[in-house]
Amino acid sequence: MAGCSVCGGKPFYTRRYSGEVLCASCFDVSIVEKTRRTISKYKMIGPQENVAVAVSGGKDSLSLLKVLAGLYASRGNGIVAVSVDEGVAGYREEALSHARSLASELGVKHLVVSYKEMFGFSLDEALDWEGEREASSCSFCGVFRRRAIDEAAQRAGASVVATAHNLDDFVQTFMMNLMHGDVTRLGWLDPSHTDASFPLRRVKPFMELYEEEVALYAHQAGVSLQSVSCPYMHEGLRSEVRDYLNIMEANHPGLKNVLLRSSLDVISHYAVNSEKHSVPCAKCGRPSSSGLCSVCRMKATVEEHVKSRAEPSAFGGG
Ligand code: SF4
Ligand code: ZN
Repeated sequence: MAGCSVCGGKPFYTRRYSGEVLCASCFDVSIVEKTRRTISKYKMIGPQENVAVAVSGGKDSLSLLKVLAGLYASRGNGIVAVSVDEGVAGYREEALSHARSLASELGVKHLVVSYKEMFGFSLDEALDWEGEREASSCSFCGVFRRRAIDEAAQRAGASVVATAHNLDDFVQTFMMNLMHGDVTRLGWLDPSHTDASFPLRRVKPFMELYEEEVALYAHQAGVSLQSVSCPYMHEGLRSEVRDYLNIMEANHPGLKNVLLRSSLDVISHYAVNSEKHSVPCAKCGRPSSSGLCSVCRMKATVEEHVKSRAEPSAFGGG
């Protein structure tokens, strides 16, 4: 078997879409270098900019914090880790403690915000009703998490939010937008997209890395793994799209990478027009596609359900 393409050392990982064979140490270097190149290619982080790294406490986000802290420690960029406590009893504590330990090991400030404090309800309370929700629990939860991270990042004085979305996440989201017929949102996936009406940029420095590569990096870096799963985990369509793409990648190595390139081409056409589709939310003023943002719309629905649960029935029941 051929040795590492860089140093001739013991093979550890083969990047099947490029044919590169890497030893463990050159693999680690390649992850940091690929991340640095992605950031530079899409001008994700400018000189002296303060970066908020969204850290859920899972392996991807802990790896991102480690890579970015390493890349920017000496460059005059401020790095802060921001985490969200959704309010799921028995679930988030472990991940938050992993995030806290890594941030302190790296000497990075760590800010934690909660749904309860920001929206007035925990995820346990928000999901505690029977009946129709307009989205799967993870899509519903994700809408609030993005807003909570943005608010936390602004509180921390950051101008960029970096999330750990990898190549797999990116192409899954692209496919899901197509499947939902939601083409105007494609422009928002543009890695170079900036919305003048919104003071924060969202960037995905791992977007050119396969999920399995980030997982391997995390393992090598000794990143702590979460042992508890969220009881509400329900991704709906996403898990089917993920399974489909994994089968396709196994049969056609490199397919996800080609799909990323094609997605970026398609997205660039919509990016030009996406700002025309972004209007301020009538309630909170944040960008929205319809005049009322998803957070304000879903928050009103939760409040209605919480209120109707608290009110005694007109017929005297509980
Ligand atoms: Fe939210 Fe889904 Fe994550 Fe649970 S698994 S915290 S519902 S996004
Ligand atoms: Zn709003």
